[in-house]
Amino acid sequence: MPAADGRVFEDVSPRDGRVIAEVARGSAEDVDLAVRAARRAFDDGTWALADPVQRKRVLLRWASLIDERSEELAQLESADVGHPITDARNVDVPNARNCIAWYAEAIDKVYGEIAPTGADALALVGREPLGVIGAVIPWNYPLIITAWKLAPALATGNSVVLKPAEQSPLSALALAELGAEAGLPDGVLNVVPGFGEEAGEPLGRHVLVDKITFTGSVDVGRRFLRYAGESNGKAVSLELGGKSPHVVLADVEDLDRAADAIGWGIFYNAGQTCHAGSRVVVERSLVEPLAERLVAFAREMVPGDPAEASTTLGALVSGEHLDGVMARVSRAAGGDGARLLVGGSRAEPVPGGAYMEPTVLEALDAADPIVQEEVFGPVLAIQQADDAEHAIALANGTGYGLAAAVWSSNITTAHRVARRLRAGTVWINTFDISSLATPFGGVKDSGHGRDRSLHALDAYTHLKTTWVAL
Ligand code: NAD
Repeated sequence: MPAADGRVFEDVSPRDGRVIAEVARGSAEDVDLAVRAARRAFDDGTWALADPVQRKRVLLRWASLIDERSEELAQLESADVGHPITDARNVDVPNARNCIAWYAEAIDKVYGEIAPTGADALALVGREPLGVIGAVIPWNYPLIITAWKLAPALATGNSVVLKPAEQSPLSALALAELGAEAGLPDGVLNVVPGFGEEAGEPLGRHVLVDKITFTGSVDVGRRFLRYAGESNGKAVSLELGGKSPHVVLADVEDLDRAADAIGWGIFYNAGQTCHAGSRVVVERSLVEPLAERLVAFAREMVPGDPAEASTTLGALVSGEHLDGVMARVSRAAGGDGARLLVGGSRAEPVPGGAYMEPTVLEALDAADPIVQEEVFGPVLAIQQADDAEHAIALANGTGYGLAAAVWSSNITTAHRVARRLRAGTVWINTFDISSLATPFGGVKDSGHGRDRSLHALDAYTHLKTTWVAL
């Protein structure tokens, strides 16, 4: 439906800089309409009080509609954010679909508790939905992150108002359409596309919203805490950015394998992954051989047209974002803090698009912004460490704490190092392997929410005690 004031915004594809859609530009008025619809739907109980088996059926139908329309969803995602079409087909769409099916299958298998009380009481502890959830989503994996929020929130009986990123509204709208077709009752899922300050802020401040689940930047995450504090004190969970380090110890078993995983871990999705392994902290004796391999990996990964099935490195999300990434690299390479080993230039496989060569720098100063700040592009910084102890200090030496990896052939050493890394996920001798069964989120500036796994149900429910006198 159109925005209340009839305004639209242009959705530009980073593939070639062309406008691919005009999208309703949501404002406070639209947010208010959506929140009230969500509130009514929650209060009437059709969804919130439905038998979990009924919610499961609807969510499973939704998952199978995603299967049926998978090509369309993949095309939308690829055109909207520049993901290579093969990744959109093989990763984005199936992951979103599997997430919805996973929570559908889980929800009729979650039990409550009976608290240990005396013989004169029966105290039941059960989970209840929170009410209206505001979900605010970034542009880097629109389908997957949207599914991570919607599936547990809806499975537990909440209503949702979803605000996709202004750069990537298309797949969210298509997903919601399929949800309605699958049988989500009216008002249970509402999408308000639009900009952060025009639609995101009113959602964060709305007094009928019970909880905000946010994924995005640190700065905006903190704004949501402020919005909550200045409105109704709603709950907020935050999945924020990262500057994830690989700690490569001198006894790593297979340097080629490590280099491959490190290369994929930073250049996949053009580095626009919150947990991208954007730093390598490597013991001195291995700096040269590892850097050589990473440079070779970067040279082989040539940016290509996202619409081509053979492309592995697509576009960055927008020309504006590309300018920001390029500026950070120029600043780093132009000062004393870093040495450019490969890349650092724009590419143009499709005229008008937003492309960049995979870039590797050797970082000489741990305080350099290229080490400390999230770049969110295909840019890897290598840091030298004297020994494992120094490597741990460097790895923990940023504000972020989303993910990390340890590479060592000694499993005891690897575990000892992993224990001391402050991060929500630590991989040992691998990178970026995950499952819906494992929680995902961060510590420190990376936030405090957890998506995925049964633990995500905690984010969308409260524990209710019913005390019966016997
Ligand atoms: P962003 O914070 O700029 O935007 C995220 C969302 O917030 C968008 O929907 C945007 O419209 C909205 N928003 C922006 N300004 C707002 C405001 N003033 N008030 C209310 N809403 C506002 O982030 P982005 O650029 O879209 O995404 C990139 C960031 O997301 C990176 O920092 C990345 O690391 C992070 N991220 C984190 C995870 C994770 O799980 N930890 C996953 C993916 C992305």
